Amino acid sequence: MFVDNGVELLDSRHGLGVTEPVQEQTSVRVQTPSRQGPQGSNYIIMKIDLAKSELDRLVREAQQQAEEAGSRGDGPFGALLVSQDKTVVVRAGNTAITTNNAAAHAEINLLAKAGEKLKTRKLGDYMVVVNAAPCSMCMSALLKAKVTNIVFGAPPEPNMDPYITPEELAAKSRLDVAVLGGILADECVQQIARLRAARTTND
Ligand SMILES: [Zn+2]
Repeated sequence: MFVDNGVELLDSRHGLGVTEPVQEQTSVRVQTPSRQGPQGSNYIIMKIDLAKSELDRLVREAQQQAEEAGSRGDGPFGALLVSQDKTVVVRAGNTAITTNNAAAHAEINLLAKAGEKLKTRKLGDYMVVVNAAPCSMCMSALLKAKVTNIVFGAPPEPNMDPYITPEELAAKSRLDVAVLGGILADECVQQIARLRAARTTND
């Protein structure tokens, strides 16, 4: 079901027990950055119900990981694993440059740390929050871990290679994946640019 502003309303097929029509603009599932709800509204990403202020808080915490990564000379990216009670359970940053490992993106490191801590590779009960759009490698890895709630800040970068957006990969998954991008996008884009500019590593 779609309303005028292009936001898909939640219905019972998402397993939330919503059988009555949802009131317009109170609870929305946002599928793309261009379909954000009005400022201050609540977002329901599958089973996780978050106010905009909470999303901002989480993205800022992912930015702290990005700040640490960028400051040590790695790619300026950070990721969080968040439980349904909105607690950050695991944090990770990019270590690709300092470990000479092209695959050591923040999300991949997050999955490894989460497996160690939680003793499971299946993370369907959690949400992942990143300061920038996951690349195709990371998005695929998140789907393999059954993560279906993904929030990010900065949009996909034009030079991403291969250029496959999180939304495109989500649409190819058998899982019902909720992707919400563009949270504090400008702040995230500026932070990434600042940290890259300050990097001394020629990479
Ligand atoms: Zn990645």
